[in-house]
Amino acid sequence: MSGRRVALLAALAGGALAAACQGAASVPEPEAARATPPPTAYIGALAATPAASVPSVALVAVDVTYEMSRTASMDLAELPARSGGVAAVATPRAARVASARARMVDRGPATERRVALTFDAGADRGYAEQILDTLRDKGVRASFGMTGQWAEANPDLLGRMVAEGHHLINHTQTHDSFTGFSTGRAAKSSEARARELATTEQAVQRIAGATTKPYFRPPYGDIDTSVIEDVRAQGYDIVAMWTVDSQGWNGLSRAGIEARCLRAAAPGAVYVFHVGSAAQDGPALPGIIEGLRKQGYQMGTLDWLLHP
Ligand SMILES: [Zn+2]
Repeated sequence: MSGRRVALLAALAGGALAAACQGAASVPEPEAARATPPPTAYIGALAATPAASVPSVALVAVDVTYEMSRTASMDLAELPARSGGVAAVATPRAARVASARARMVDRGPATERRVALTFDAGADRGYAEQILDTLRDKGVRASFGMTGQWAEANPDLLGRMVAEGHHLINHTQTHDSFTGFSTGRAAKSSEARARELATTEQAVQRIAGATTKPYFRPPYGDIDTSVIEDVRAQGYDIVAMWTVDSQGWNGLSRAGIEARCLRAAAPGAVYVFHVGSAAQDGPALPGIIEGLRKQGYQMGTLDWLLHP
């Protein structure tokens, strides 16, 4: 446990970690993050806490061995306090009220050769239709992180996702950062966060008669303790992070995405892809599914991975 804590604290101190989840084309990724994608698979921006507020922790890249050995959920006591406040990353677990917070999940059980495929939909239609065709042809179900705006713009595709047995995750209405970390804007209030979640859920209910609860995927992967408390209060018990980022959003080629995803395969891994045309994730998907099957993996939704 102490090794995990040290590694995550180091990650939290590394405020420059890239935010992988780029669903909205209108909000560009930080240039520094694009220029230097970390070598590890997992690059969610875990914290908005400035590095200066945790001076005792060395700034290092997340160790890949650590990444591959983590268990099903990260320790919520290791998250920073509300952004802008004094960092509280080392607060003893006993002082926390765990039930008030959603569970942050970046992988499932490592006991079986099972992985989850998740796709974020927040920009254009992109390859969504092709992705659905591939999943249908290969007999694979997946999770889709859905913004309310995307749902409203693409009701036919949302309807298909539900009809074909896929699983939905609330990716907010507008894909704005809840903490402001990746967008340079102010953190959203609890009320604004609740509206983002509710508007999306209402759109999904109205269009497809489905729910996104209890799964929340934070835009850009931006989270802090206030976010996981706020989403829990709205009925989102699981903050859906990921193990393996395809890097498609970062301009990786189809072949590069495929190689990266197959190299990073591990029992319990959660993959994050994007449906938008800015990423070659859709074209890479058939090769990824075939390659994972050759390695003996079953694929499915995040919900299936966590509750087989
Ligand atoms: Zn996104």
